[in-house]
Amino acid sequence: MKPTIVLVGRPNVGKSTLFNRLTRSKDALVADLPGLTRDRHYGHGRVGEKPYLVVDTGGFEPVVDSGILFEMAKQTLQAVDEADAVIFLVDSRAGVTPQDKLIAQKLRMSGRPVYLAVNKAEGANRAVVSAEFYELGLNLEPFVISSAHGDGVWDLIDSVLSDFPEPEEEEEDAKHPVFAVIGRPNVGKSTLVNAILGEERVIAFDQAGTTRDSIHIDFERNEKPYTIIDTAGVRRRGKVDEAIEKFSVIKSMQAVEAANVAVLVLDANQDIADQDATIAGFALEAGRALVIAINKWDVVTPERKEQIKKDIARKLYFLDFAKFHYISALKHKGIDDLFDSINQAYQAAMIKMPTPKITRVLQSALERQQPPRVGPIRPKLRYAHQGGVNPPIIVIHGNALHHIKDSYTRYLVQTFRKAFHLEGTPLRVQYKSTE
Ligand code: GDP
Ligand code: GDP
Repeated sequence: MKPTIVLVGRPNVGKSTLFNRLTRSKDALVADLPGLTRDRHYGHGRVGEKPYLVVDTGGFEPVVDSGILFEMAKQTLQAVDEADAVIFLVDSRAGVTPQDKLIAQKLRMSGRPVYLAVNKAEGANRAVVSAEFYELGLNLEPFVISSAHGDGVWDLIDSVLSDFPEPEEEEEDAKHPVFAVIGRPNVGKSTLVNAILGEERVIAFDQAGTTRDSIHIDFERNEKPYTIIDTAGVRRRGKVDEAIEKFSVIKSMQAVEAANVAVLVLDANQDIADQDATIAGFALEAGRALVIAINKWDVVTPERKEQIKKDIARKLYFLDFAKFHYISALKHKGIDDLFDSINQAYQAAMIKMPTPKITRVLQSALERQQPPRVGPIRPKLRYAHQGGVNPPIIVIHGNALHHIKDSYTRYLVQTFRKAFHLEGTPLRVQYKSTE
């Protein structure tokens, strides 16, 4: 499990600057998709062998910020609640403000592990700067950092991560599809999970899952093993007064991370919301295989059918690798086909591609279209091999490869996708230059 690190602090202390620094390296691996507006509040990062998720709570919702009336936004409090660790940023130049004190108080009550980061401290005297913030009463040794310059940032993140174990050797232990059912509240996730499990022999219900707030259930269907990660399940078992599920991007992210296939459920009677695009984009960024289930198809008018298809084409166009299914969880319609796609996406995500074939496909791609020249330089692609699964990664070696344009990378991705019939999974191309 990747730990989730949540950044909190009053406006302007440098949360988004720190967020960018903590997520930058990973982003470079994802070929940019034109026009895909990523939600820049949720991201991935990695230090050495240790991956993590980062959440920037700045700009979640407007906060009441009039001096002593400062209130943390509900969404921020929820994120703190779901965090594995919280980094609390303060501004060394502004000193302790009343808002900082209120945030410190909330964090003390939250019981989450908190790290205090005194930011904008480039060139400052560490002892002097940190002494002032003991007043916050957090009983912590502050980390004195500069998000803008990078000073102290990796010490901080090393400390945060030292409490979490290194990930196991490639989490490849599950040799069968592990799929997470994700989506906004009320789209029909529980109904779908029940439809799936109700029909099948449940081998062991209710195993202790590793994903917080989600349930992992093993079952068989047509004599094949699966694990379902049910993000809606908690509510069913939870307290009665929690009848209305809070939508949690963090919970969805963690479920997607723990799965090898994500099944995104949408309600055919509702327009695609930003939250749908956010979690779909997140699955893409995480490199997970993806299947889309547009649910409640039993109660859609013909006009609405046209409308939702247009809406999908417009807002989820970046999921062109994924299969879309129109289902009714309530009437148990379309579930067999959905499973065909889950299996296909899983196979594609776990594919082992022989090096000679990869190289052949690369050669024929080059024969059809060379990468464009940049001034006097023409990038030279020499050979390729597979660098990983879920998502499949193709590593290409050669010279001057950093000059390759995103559009050419997209051309290569399409070519490999076609050659290996990779439906349902993102595919990545990485370059290793030898100069
Ligand atoms: P947020 O509102 O907490 O997300 O804060 P931002 O990341 O947007 O930063 C607010 C301002 O502080 C911006 O002008 C940043 O350039 C600046 N800033 C952030 N980190 C540092 C730092 O380490 N040193 C200095 N001098 N400025 C910083
Ligand atoms: P969740 O919050 O995503 O788990 O959604 P639920 O499974 O609790 O479903 C929300 C509501 O939608 C319930 O009233 C379900 O009966 C209804 N629902 C779920 N699937 C379907 C479907 O395929 N067709 C119709 N008409 N209603 C559905």
